[in-house]
Formats: sequence, C-alpha cells, structure tokens
Amino acid sequence: MAETMVKDLADVSFINEVCAIPGGEAIRSCIQCGVCTGSCPTANQWDYPPRRVIAMVRAGLRDELLSSNSMWFCVSCYSCTVRCPRDIKPADIMHALEIIAIRSGKSTKRSKTPTMYRCFVDSARGNGRVYELGMMIKLFLKTNPFAALKLAPVGLGLFFHKRLPLKPSRIKGMGELKAILNKARELGGAK
Ligand code: SF4
Ligand code: SF4
Repeated sequence: MAETMVKDLADVSFINEVCAIPGGEAIRSCIQCGVCTGSCPTANQWDYPPRRVIAMVRAGLRDELLSSNSMWFCVSCYSCTVRCPRDIKPADIMHALEIIAIRSGKSTKRSKTPTMYRCFVDSARGNGRVYELGMMIKLFLKTNPFAALKLAPVGLGLFFHKRLPLKPSRIKGMGELKAILNKARELGGAK
C-alpha cells in the first residue's frame, strides 16, 4: 500500500515537472491518437516514438524515458504540432524533456545531440555567433574523431566556397549578449 502511494506521488511529480516547463503544459489533453508518431520523420530511430513518449510521461516512467534516445531525435520539423487534433505541441514537449534530462544528469550516451547542443552554446557564448569549424572539431573530439574523416570532403567544399571561415569572428555587444545569457541561466533555461 505504502509502495503504491509512493509510486503515485512519483507519477504526479513527473507530469508536473513536464507541465512546469513552457511547452509542456498541454500534455494532459493528449488522446493518444498517434498522429504525431505517424507524422514524425525520425520516429523509426526513437527508442519510444512520440505518442509513447507522452504516454510514458503520464505513466510516470521517468528514468526509462529520460535515459532513452527518444526526444534527442526530434528535429523540430513541427509536423506533429500542426497535425495534432488536440493542439498539443509535441515538439515543445520533447524539448522540455531534453531540459529535464540534462538537469537530472540522465541525458543518454546513445545520442550525440546533447553534446552537439553544448558545443553549439559554448561556441555562441564565446563569440556571439557560432564558429562552425571550432564547434565541429570540439564535437568530433568529444564523440567520434574518426567520423570527421567522412565529413572532410564536405568541409573542404564549404571552405573553397568561402562558407567555412578558419578563424572565429566576434560580434560587437558581447556585454549585452552575456547579460541575456546570464538572465536565461537565472531563469533555468541554460547552464
Ligand atoms: S497527435 Fe496529439 S493527441 Fe495525438 S497522440 Fe500525439 S500529442 Fe497526443
Ligand atoms: S517536431 Fe520532432 S517529434 Fe514532431 S514530427 Fe518533427 S521530429 Fe517528430
């Protein structure tokens, strides 16, 4: 009996956690129709497809879900969002889950996306804009350096078309940008 009560509390706390993040609030009105999964171009890569992700939040399966690769495969195409009959925004829910996964240290090692986000933010924070070459080198060093060999021809093509600067360039107004980023951190949206 006591165990059931603890489990019930855990269930409520997970759905409340998702609802508390902007974009997560609508999850309670899902009717499990599966239109989001049917619309999702990457669903075949997910451990649990979009409809099931939503069901798992409502069932309180926090650990299973947060340590899966599912939400990290969302490419923000918003097909699910425009088609959902309940006006839920599954893409926003996936991003809310990414935030919770990072905050709770559960982000999966089976997806490179969390590392890519981190490299992207570090690069933007340092220069005010993304320095693509530096960001990609950092990403490959942190994930799979040999994967860089496959992309070398693409990089060379971009370089010869002057689309891949060798040096970073910094924006004016770094002070203002830092103030914005600090505020975002204060609000809990960035680390
Ligand atoms: S399309 Fe909307 S209502 Fe249907 S399962 Fe997905 S989120 Fe739920
Ligand atoms: S926004 Fe994300 S979850 Fe929705 S269809 Fe596109 S990839 Fe799938």
